[in-house]
Amino acid sequence: MKIGFIGLGNMGGPMAANLAKAGHQVTGFDMAEVEIDGVSMAASGAEAATGADVVITMLPNGQILRAVADQIIPAMTAGATLVDCSTVDVDSARAVAEQTASSDLLFVDAPVSGGIGGAAGGTLTFMAGGSDDAFAKANPLFDVMGQKAVHCGAAGAGQSAKICNNMILGVTMAATCEAFALADKLGLDRQKMFDVVSTSSGYSWTMNAYCPAPGVGPQSPADNDYKPGFAAELMLKDLRLSQQAAESADADTPMGELAQALYAQFVENEDGLGMDFSALLPRFENRGRRS
Ligand code: NAD
Repeated sequence: MKIGFIGLGNMGGPMAANLAKAGHQVTGFDMAEVEIDGVSMAASGAEAATGADVVITMLPNGQILRAVADQIIPAMTAGATLVDCSTVDVDSARAVAEQTASSDLLFVDAPVSGGIGGAAGGTLTFMAGGSDDAFAKANPLFDVMGQKAVHCGAAGAGQSAKICNNMILGVTMAATCEAFALADKLGLDRQKMFDVVSTSSGYSWTMNAYCPAPGVGPQSPADNDYKPGFAAELMLKDLRLSQQAAESADADTPMGELAQALYAQFVENEDGLGMDFSALLPRFENRGRRS
């Protein structure tokens, strides 16, 4: 396929390289000067989108996605597909979907999970929203860049699934970390805490697969001085998106709201910026009940 790829950062760069390696003809564009193996670079997003069967975007946020969409949609060939893999607000995904529909284009919102390692290794999971036709067009490319793609529903459903998942993740990590800190203060050995909880009803992905306590459970960022992994500020971004969506849909999400406030405090007023999102454990460890 002829593919335009816009946004060649930490995630987009290796994703585009994997598409080129699989034999697709990839033309890329990024605001920054970048070079990606096998990808020829265009002078603008519109140039990268011209003549492409599929245009993929991997951008920082919804505002930038909307601006890029305004530039590339007029350049795209009727019948082509726009696939946005960024994590953005549901309203922006739906707005771009409407814009594509009125230009006779197909659209899929397909945020990913799996991080930079998954992007490099071609093992991402895609959560997709859009029509059956649009999903069918994008699916062979998801196969190259990832190990699994779930068609979640109409446009916006991919972003909805992503932020609901990450709201659970943020809330669960906060609960796992505070429980470890409480266990410490009760004199419980961390390994015993892990042995019990990981096989009891408190088990979770954050406990069993990404344990925030160093030296306990499988290897995780806690064993690497809490270097990310998944940075606390990215978790804050996703929690904010979840609360923006909850506001827009009038959903009651008190735990998500609390987790957002906690990560905002950690990233903006404490030392959480640049740390893994599991570094809430040393934060709780060093505090008392009221300080
Ligand atoms: P990044 O900042 O490394 O990459 C974004 C790229 O977009 C940059 O290279 C930037 O120069 C480019 N860009 C910005 N504005 C542009 C414009 N107008 N035109 C062209 N290029 C432009 O970010 P990333 O880590 O690659 O993340 C991309 C998206 O993927 C984000 O939405 C993020 O939330 C999501 N995501 C990231 C991870 C992760 O672990 N990094 C995991 C899952 C999802």
